[in-house]
Amino acid sequence: MKVSSNTLDQKTLYANVINDVYPDEYGRFGPFGGRYIPETLVPALNRLEAGVKRYLHDTEFQAEYMAELRDWIGRPTALTHARTLSKRWGCEVWFKREDLAHTGAHKINNSIGQVLLAKKLGAKRVIAETGAGQHGVASAAACARIGLPCTVYMGAVDMERQAPNVGRMKLLGATVTPVTSGDKTLRAAVDEALRDWVTDPNGTYYCLGSAIGPHPYPYLVREFQSIIGREAREQMLVKAGGLPDIAIACVGGGSNAIGLFHPFVKDTQVQLLGIEAGGSGTGLGQNAASLAYGKPGVLQGCYSMLLQDTNGQIQETHSVSAGLDYPGVGPEHALLQAAGRVSYAGIEDDDALNALEECCASEGILPAIESAHALAGARRWAKQNPGKKILIGLSGRGDKDMPTLQRTILLGKI
Ligand SMILES: *Cc1c(COP(=O)(O)O)cnc(C)c1O
Repeated sequence: MKVSSNTLDQKTLYANVINDVYPDEYGRFGPFGGRYIPETLVPALNRLEAGVKRYLHDTEFQAEYMAELRDWIGRPTALTHARTLSKRWGCEVWFKREDLAHTGAHKINNSIGQVLLAKKLGAKRVIAETGAGQHGVASAAACARIGLPCTVYMGAVDMERQAPNVGRMKLLGATVTPVTSGDKTLRAAVDEALRDWVTDPNGTYYCLGSAIGPHPYPYLVREFQSIIGREAREQMLVKAGGLPDIAIACVGGGSNAIGLFHPFVKDTQVQLLGIEAGGSGTGLGQNAASLAYGKPGVLQGCYSMLLQDTNGQIQETHSVSAGLDYPGVGPEHALLQAAGRVSYAGIEDDDALNALEECCASEGILPAIESAHALAGARRWAKQNPGKKILIGLSGRGDKDMPTLQRTILLGKI
C-alpha cells in the first residue's frame, strides 16, 4: 500500500491538485473517494474500471464520442455575454450555455459517453437513476440513439416534482420505475439502481448521473463533463479576451461544476466557486449543502463530505431544486475544498428563485432552478468584486421546473 494521503497537509494537497495527480490508483482524491462497497459489486466495478482504461482515451472511442457531441448534442454550446446583468451587477458576466445542449442540460455529455462505453463493453441493457429527471431523460435519449433498452429509477417525490420529465423519458422509450423507499428522492434512486446492477453486473450497465459513487464513476463522469470547461476556457480567451477572474457553478453531486472547474484548476489566477443548495436555512434538514455544513463519511460507495447527524446517520435534505437535493457530494469537490483551491457557499431557495426571475427578464433565458443558484451566487460575489470578469456555468434550462415556478414565482410566493 502507498502512504495514505489522509495525512497530507493543505499545502501538499494544493500542490497535488494543481499538478492533477488525482485520482490515484485506488480511486482516491486525496483522502476522499475510493470504493466502499459490498463484495457483490466488486466484479462489476473492476470490469467497469478495466473498460474505462481500455476505451476512454482510445482514439476511436474519442472520435465517436466527439462526433455525437457535435452532431447530436449540438456542441460546442455557446458562450453568451449577459449584457444586461453585466450592467446591473457591475461586472462582466458570461454564461456557458449548457441549457442549449440537447435535452436541456449538461447531463447528456455524460450519458452519451457512458452509453457508448456500455455498448463497447457488450451490455444488453442500461439502468440509470434520476433526481430532477434530467439524467433520466438524457440516459433515455442516449440509449435510444445508441440502441440499448433503458430503465430509470426515480424517487416518487421527484416524479411528482418533475412530472414533465417522466413523460419525456417514457416517450424516449425508457421504463421509469418509481422508488418509494427511503427519502423517495435521488439517494433512494441510486440505492435502487445499485441493487439492480448487482443482480446482473455483466449484462447490465449502470449509467450514473453525477460525479459521485464508487471509483471509477467520479473520475469517469469528470472526464466526460470536462468538455464544458475546455470549451469555456477556449471561448473566454477568444470572445472575452482572457480568462475569467472567477468561474461559478452550482453543485448537487458536482458533475457540471467539476466539468467547468477541472480545466481551470491549473490557472491559479482564476478563482473557483461552487454554489450549493442553501434550502430554507442553515439547520440540519433545511438544506443540501454538504460541503458547507457536512462532515466526512461514507455514502453510496464513496468517502466524501455528507450531511449527517452525530451518529453518522444521513440527514434528510431540503431544496426547492430536485437536482441539488442530495446529502453527499463528489469526492473531487471535497478534495478541492480541503486543498483550498475551490470555495463553496450556499444559496437559499428564495434567493435562487429571485435570480431566476432576474435572468429571465434581463437576458431572455429561463435557467433551471439548479443553475439559478449559481446565478444568485454570482450576483452576491459581483456586488463585492466590481469590474471583474465572471464565468457562470448555466447548467440547464428551466422548462422542466414550470410546475415549481407556477407554485412559487407565478403565484407571487417569493
Ligand atoms: C442534475 C442537475 C444539476 C446538479 O447535478 P450536478 O451533478 O451537481 O451537476 C445541476 N443543474 C442541472 C440543470 C441539472 O439537471
